[in-house]
Amino acid sequence: MEHKRIVIKVGTSTLTHSSGAVDLRSMEHLVRTLSDLRGMGHEVILVSSGAIAVGTEKMNLKERPKELRMKQAAASVGQCQMMAMYDRLFSEYNQSVGQILITGDDVEDKDRARHLSNTLSALLEMGIIPIVNENDSVSSAEIETEKHKVLGDNDRLSAIVAKFCRADLLILLSDIEGLYDKNPKDHPDAKLIHKVSALTPEIMEMAGDAGSWRGTGGMITKLLAAKIAMESGFDMVITNGKKLENIYDIVENKDVGTRFSTGW
Ligand code: ADP
Repeated sequence: MEHKRIVIKVGTSTLTHSSGAVDLRSMEHLVRTLSDLRGMGHEVILVSSGAIAVGTEKMNLKERPKELRMKQAAASVGQCQMMAMYDRLFSEYNQSVGQILITGDDVEDKDRARHLSNTLSALLEMGIIPIVNENDSVSSAEIETEKHKVLGDNDRLSAIVAKFCRADLLILLSDIEGLYDKNPKDHPDAKLIHKVSALTPEIMEMAGDAGSWRGTGGMITKLLAAKIAMESGFDMVITNGKKLENIYDIVENKDVGTRFSTGW
């Protein structure tokens, strides 16, 4: 089988319960699956959100803070907690991880972008799984508003990372099976779209507003990520993060979720 370089983006709604506590079953399953992909000879980069939700819970706050500095404090606490958990769980499968936190400036500036790209390739060369997140304690792009910012959300961040490390495949784990022809939360008759080969205005119109409070992006940011993927020449697949077994099929190019590809 062909060995692939795969970026996997996991959202807060996959990693946490509605209370904000870490969904241990999901996290363990994710770590086991990614370790298995490594065992199959693939290279894996994980882009993980969830720091603010996890920090909110760990700081015993009743709800996600509204004030920016408190959100950033929650991100700081939550990021530590998440990495500690990833490090421990991946170690159980004999995998090493490295943390990379990125702000918008890092990808806009040529020198910084080159360093980022070099660091990612050094980690991969050493067989280490890079775990990437936006540096939420410093940048406010993701947590304030997603508009007019370089990164703004981990969907686009993951596509930029995939582009930088010349990945073959980007998988976005969401709280939904893929892109539907309209928002299934409002329209029970919505139909799943399996393949997208061009981001036509019709496709762009299908994306509604941001979904749950725990997620930030909704489908719009996923389509913006797909734009980067299609321009850069790698496939992107949206699938349900609660069905992690799907990852195996996606890597084998089977028809799961929504695949964006120019190579049909
Ligand atoms: P996550 O952070 O888990 O990736 P988001 O909440 O950011 O998830 O985005 C997924 C949500 O986008 C879905 O749960 C759904 O409510 C909403 N959505 C809006 N339009 C669509 C669409 N056309 N197809 C699928 N989901 C849509």
